[in-house]
Amino acid sequence: MKFNGIDFDTYFKDYPNEEGYFGKYGGVYIDENLKQAMEEITEAYFTICKSRKFINELRRIRKEFQGRPTPISHLERLSNKLGNVQIYVKREDLNHTGAHKLNHCMGEALLAKYMGKKKVIAETGAGQHGVALATAAAYFGLECDIYMGSVDIQKQAPNVARMKILGANVIEVTKGDATLKEAVDAAFEAYSKEYKDCIYCIGSVVGPHPFPMMVRDFQSIVGIEARSQFTEMTGELPDVVVACVGGGSNAAGMFAGFLNDPVEIYGVEPLGRGKKLGDHAASLNYGEEGIMHGFNSLMLKDELGNPAPVYSVASGLDYPSSGPEHAFLHDIGRVKYDVVDDEETIEAFYMLSRLEGIIPAIESAHAVAYAIKLAKKMKKGSILVNLSGRGDKDMDYIIEKYGIR
Ligand SMILES: *Cc1c(COP(=O)(O)O)cnc(C)c1O
Repeated sequence: MKFNGIDFDTYFKDYPNEEGYFGKYGGVYIDENLKQAMEEITEAYFTICKSRKFINELRRIRKEFQGRPTPISHLERLSNKLGNVQIYVKREDLNHTGAHKLNHCMGEALLAKYMGKKKVIAETGAGQHGVALATAAAYFGLECDIYMGSVDIQKQAPNVARMKILGANVIEVTKGDATLKEAVDAAFEAYSKEYKDCIYCIGSVVGPHPFPMMVRDFQSIVGIEARSQFTEMTGELPDVVVACVGGGSNAAGMFAGFLNDPVEIYGVEPLGRGKKLGDHAASLNYGEEGIMHGFNSLMLKDELGNPAPVYSVASGLDYPSSGPEHAFLHDIGRVKYDVVDDEETIEAFYMLSRLEGIIPAIESAHAVAYAIKLAKKMKKGSILVNLSGRGDKDMDYIIEKYGIR
């Protein structure tokens, strides 16, 4: 299928290009010594990850350890309540550890093992990426260093406990605001000293090339499974596919299955408290071109051109940029990016819980909220939503802040 001059029959071969660009977005904007480390990973990725042995081992792990394929559920009661549009969800909440993140962490850690590395390192904000990577490291017998700001360590005690139980070293970062940004800086600094023995496992389709491509490829299992399951279930393709976008990994994986189909695709960003800078994290909707964390993409900037402070009720969506591939798909118009705010999200969180018996992650509830809005407008057809994770981690916070509804 051709769209706006882009040939989607050969899209995955054409994008990113050899320098890691999706159009003008992507690239490798880091120090020289780390550039070498990225080149080593890129080369390993293209040889090891395309080998039969690697692919078969990852396949086995997905089935026997992660519990894949995850099912698709038809949301009958929710659909009936809204009208005639049928809503379906891809159940990444049923993936081991309760979210999609393990899909790329298992791939990254398996690659580290094949490359002969002893350790994986990463930063974490809310702790979700840290827990997924600690799980993968335990499975493969790799050491695992997770950098985390002291403020987040205080806020995310259960995830800190999980990482420690899984055997990871949680390294406290006390500099500056002591949150995600400082944790990223500290992890990059450690990596530049230790890159011979370890790989830095990035937690989304962000960072320098090859990570946006590699994480997308590892996540594409979601879209590939979903496409074949949905067509088997209903005899046709969905009319619309929806996923929430923070860094953009669950969305990139889901969209990969449908980019070459006559399917409308929506990425949903968090509008938080509203449109004012600092009150949301909708970088694709309101951002401008900019470089941070080693890649060029659309980014929310402050007056000085630095990454702006961002906010969302969902800590997993709280990031001032998004993956370069999303910026590209946004510019060419293949994917539409829209927003829902905190209030709409909380409403959807309760609707899905009450009508379907599925408590969604607050990140995933953004995608559900958008599907609900679309279903009211569309009158007929079908919507497939990527339910990126389960909501157990969010329950205490939601009850405290919003009460039982
Ligand atoms: C981390 C997380 C997200 C956001 O990350 P993406 O890279 O944008 O997918 C979404 N949903 C859940 C459940 C998460 O844990």
